[in-house]
Amino acid sequence: DIGSQRDRVVSEEEWLKKWELGNIGFHKERGHPLLQKYLDVLLNGRSGLRIFFPLCGKAVEMKWLADMGHRVVGVEVSEQALRGFFAEHGLSYCEEPVPEISGAKKLQSTSGNISLYCCSIYDLSSSIVGKFDGIWDRGALVAVNPRDRQRYSSLMITFMEKNSSYLLVTVSYDPNKHKGPPFYVPESEIKSLFG
Ligand code: SAH
Repeated sequence: DIGSQRDRVVSEEEWLKKWELGNIGFHKERGHPLLQKYLDVLLNGRSGLRIFFPLCGKAVEMKWLADMGHRVVGVEVSEQALRGFFAEHGLSYCEEPVPEISGAKKLQSTSGNISLYCCSIYDLSSSIVGKFDGIWDRGALVAVNPRDRQRYSSLMITFMEKNSSYLLVTVSYDPNKHKGPPFYVPESEIKSLFG
């Protein structure tokens, strides 16, 4: 039930294990229909934007937006996911350490328009990655451990430019009937986090 979910934690190790075992039902080969539907809201008439993908996995939408001329920055704990992204799209890339974050790596497409940080979202700050014109949050807030939600949303807000758009994919369901993706986030909580 929702009450017991509040204390549940999915550790980084568990996420890495999911990637290793291929338990990645959340990954979709086709671009998300809601990004297509609300693309205008994200772009708001602007071109050449910097767009952030928190907890990016190997989301195909990163390639899609890059191909439209935007610069994409993602963050993901699984290096396997990030390498998979570049490999599956046939993109060459280089990697370098991130001086500000011990153990972190940045994988960047040779063309330079896709930069993926391999580290925890909580290691990043806008002094490292800058600010963004748009954020695509699909499977990110819902994957954040409930106890970290406030920290996560506050951090996201620090990544936003004045005219940023934040697209948050929400899922409305009865938490007593469905297990969730992986955590249930009540609408009232979304309003208090981002309202
Ligand atoms: N947004 C992606 C993936 C969603 S699944 C998509 O739409 O397909 C959530 C992802 O977050 C997983 O790939 C997991 O490895 C990653 N993750 C979990 N905790 C993280 C953290 N603290 N920092 C960065 N990535 C994290």
